[in-house]
Amino acid sequence: MTHSTLFSRRTLLGSAITGAATLALPSFVHAQAGRAHVVVVGGGFGGATAARYLRQRAPQVRVTLIEPAERFITCPFSNLYLAGLRSWDSLGHGYDGLRQAGVDVVHARADDVDTAARTLRLSSGQTLHYDRLVLSPGVDMRWNAIEGYGEAAAQTAPHAWKAGAQTQLLRQQMHAMADGGCFVMVIPDNPFRCPPGPYERAAMVAHYFQRHKPRSKILLLDAKDNFSKQGLFLQAFKMLYGDMIEWVKQSDDGQVLRVDAKALEVETVFGTRHKAAVLNVIPPQKAGFIAERAGVTDASGWVPVKAESFESRQIAGVYVLGDATIAAPMPKSGFAANTQGKVAAAAIAAELTGQPAPVAAYANTCYSLIGPDHGISVAGVYRAQAGKLTEVPDSGGVSPLEGNAAFRAAEARYGAAWYAAISADIWDR
Ligand SMILES: Cc1cc2nc3c(=O)[nH]c(=O)nc-3n(C[C@H](O)[C@H](O)[C@H](O)COP(=O)(O)OP(=O)(O)OC[C@H]3O[C@@H](n4cnc5c(N)ncnc54)[C@H](O)[C@@H]3O)c2cc1C
Repeated sequence: MTHSTLFSRRTLLGSAITGAATLALPSFVHAQAGRAHVVVVGGGFGGATAARYLRQRAPQVRVTLIEPAERFITCPFSNLYLAGLRSWDSLGHGYDGLRQAGVDVVHARADDVDTAARTLRLSSGQTLHYDRLVLSPGVDMRWNAIEGYGEAAAQTAPHAWKAGAQTQLLRQQMHAMADGGCFVMVIPDNPFRCPPGPYERAAMVAHYFQRHKPRSKILLLDAKDNFSKQGLFLQAFKMLYGDMIEWVKQSDDGQVLRVDAKALEVETVFGTRHKAAVLNVIPPQKAGFIAERAGVTDASGWVPVKAESFESRQIAGVYVLGDATIAAPMPKSGFAANTQGKVAAAAIAAELTGQPAPVAAYANTCYSLIGPDHGISVAGVYRAQAGKLTEVPDSGGVSPLEGNAAFRAAEARYGAAWYAAISADIWDR
């Protein structure tokens, strides 16, 4: 099955998203909904989608989106920027399209939530009242979960796992590195943002080195023994980059215990020390802090949600999307956050307009680029079943290991088309 088939919008929108929910409503429902105010925190993949689709589903509902950045920089394709295959500008997306769609966009940070009073305190000092709250704050780093890797260390050994200044810093360091240096990447155990992301990054750094610093090496120190699309990645690393990339799994002494960011050194659990020319530490993560402030996280640091709507299991009226949630078997991806945003928007619109709850359907495809003409993917379709998210049997899978050059080139093109389509779906229209 090709993955473009899976990315069919019909699959995605079939049951949950399409339909004229606002038609033929009794007038009292319109009046009630007219007063309703939904506040969405986070203008990334999940939040901006929910805000836009909520306005579309229920134009009578007031929607306010809270996001500090005036331009959102996507993590997707930020690895391509490191490789020199994408410009910085192409990763940025503004909020004018959402404003035109009727969303009130407020550039501020949400500092606190009172879920009993249904109010939100902003960094501007403003307090907002909401009827429904949507949180899509992404991830925060677990500083010092790896000894020595706190916020200050990230200024020398960037994580670049939130796109922005960190990504630019990592690229500057790659450019400044002498040929023959070792780029060391520290990779966390699951769950974390974008399971295939570190391995795509390794390939994109290798692409840059091959052209500009061909004697250099890339050492991947991993806190786990298996990773997403592993067979495809390892095959392509060898084929495109020879011995440039070395992956050390957890059981082969891959897990890093300690980081000395000043000396650019790491120490593994078994006591092996590695010296880096560029050190990229991707630390363990948790839900963005505002989720914890709202009281919707559990002991894991992530947010349990209802599979049918992504409403919090702990606090009614609060919906949480994207990386912050416990949504396995869905991965923490932008694609997943986008479909979750649509389902939550439909569920909230139905609730506020007195309609029956829609049937939830979700999908995901994660493309990874290994070389300019070498793309791979993993895909799946998901449903809510007995309160749990489950993958529909035989709905997806990974690219075939035996795919030929034309197949890989086609997947590279599908990936680029996906990025253009999702950017337009969320921000750029
Ligand atoms: C290197 C890399 C490559 C990736 N590649 C892909 C890919 O190819 N395909 C894919 O599908 N996914 C990819 N991802 C994953 C993708 O970036 C995330 O899964 C996605 O961004 C999650 O969406 P989200 O809405 O949960 O969080 P985000 O998109 O990160 O949005 C969170 C937003 O919330 C805002 N925010 C946080 N706290 C507050 C607050 N208190 N008040 C106001 N605003 C707040 C932030 O400023 C941010 O704009 C990649 C990730 C990385 C790191």
